[in-house]
Amino acid sequence: MKIREIIKNKVTDYFRNNAEYCGILDLYDNKKSRDHIINIGTSILSSKWEIEYSGGKYIIDIDMENEEDIDKKTKDLESKIKSLKGELENIQEICTHAECVIKFNKKKSVKKYCKSCDKELGYASDREREDFLKGRENKKS
Ligand SMILES: [Zn+2]
Repeated sequence: MKIREIIKNKVTDYFRNNAEYCGILDLYDNKKSRDHIINIGTSILSSKWEIEYSGGKYIIDIDMENEEDIDKKTKDLESKIKSLKGELENIQEICTHAECVIKFNKKKSVKKYCKSCDKELGYASDREREDFLKGRENKKS
């Protein structure tokens, strides 16, 4: 099933289940206005979820049961991630890392990061680590 249809089905279900409660049952009963509202709802949600034109193909038109479609889109996204990562590295290269913040990395080690460009700047000192963990404790209680 294409993503567009999946979203459209969700909108249709929601409209059907809530039309009476919202006092717009007459809009649901009229096929022309019902289709109109469902199409607008589908468009709004597609933009909200950032499902839009990308890499020569509408993500919304990807057939989730077609492996070739998914494969092509995945490769397209991976190449974009790669190019965006390169862009980020360039910015991090230029940044002077004037201010740093302490936070956990993905492996739950306490590390130092640039506040502006988010580049990892190494391990926090014992003192920084202690303050950081203490700060978290205080927030919890
Ligand atoms: Zn920086």
